[in-house]
Amino acid sequence: MVRDDTEPRKRIHRPGQETGSSKKEAHIMKDKDKDMDKDNTPKSEESVLPESRVFVLPGDTIGTAEEFILGKNTFKHGGNVYSTITGEVNINKKNHVISVIPKVGIPPMIENGDLIIGRVSDLKSSIALVEIALIEGKGEREIVNNQQAAIHISNVKDRYVKDIYYEFSPFDIIKAKVIDTKLMRLSTSGGNLGVIKAFCKKCHVILDKPSGDEDKRGKLICPVCGNYESRKLSSEYSGSAA
Ligand SMILES: [Zn+2]
Repeated sequence: MVRDDTEPRKRIHRPGQETGSSKKEAHIMKDKDKDMDKDNTPKSEESVLPESRVFVLPGDTIGTAEEFILGKNTFKHGGNVYSTITGEVNINKKNHVISVIPKVGIPPMIENGDLIIGRVSDLKSSIALVEIALIEGKGEREIVNNQQAAIHISNVKDRYVKDIYYEFSPFDIIKAKVIDTKLMRLSTSGGNLGVIKAFCKKCHVILDKPSGDEDKRGKLICPVCGNYESRKLSSEYSGSAA
């Protein structure tokens, strides 16, 4: 399915907005945001409201330079306005100034048992390295004790894993549980844990869950080249439709 302006809950709609690869991660964040803000349900283009509480990360597009005057914590690049920080978009309707209000308060510490959303940055023979983006339920603020985390091959799932390359791939977005904050170890053992978004190794587009074919369960299919890839999937895998 095409991600377009028929899904206004995802973000503010702006004409001519470009989608770059750097935004894929941001979409994940907003998917999360959507789940948490059940009361925040703009239904139309009128979602360009200050009350809509759009949460953004550094580098997210927040509008176009044509529409808005740059306010605090924003920068302009190629006709678009971007956020420089993690926070909420604020639009002053009177003077058309767009700014981003930083999230205040004590940034969350990573603790054992926390569920995190992160991105696989690299794979070694027996570990997957993960950059943690946010801690679930603790708000999308920057994390205090953030360092590169790792999933050991023994913590990928509750069954024996022979080859970690069969379970993860760089750029995968994963949901994992923190099991050791000293060594920054994560686990994806459990039905809801694992890869929640993955990209085709050839085409770099988001892979989909194939429907119907029992033989292909647990695998993902590329909507462009038809290639099947295997992952340690989370039950929350969203694919390109989400
Ligand atoms: Zn492909």
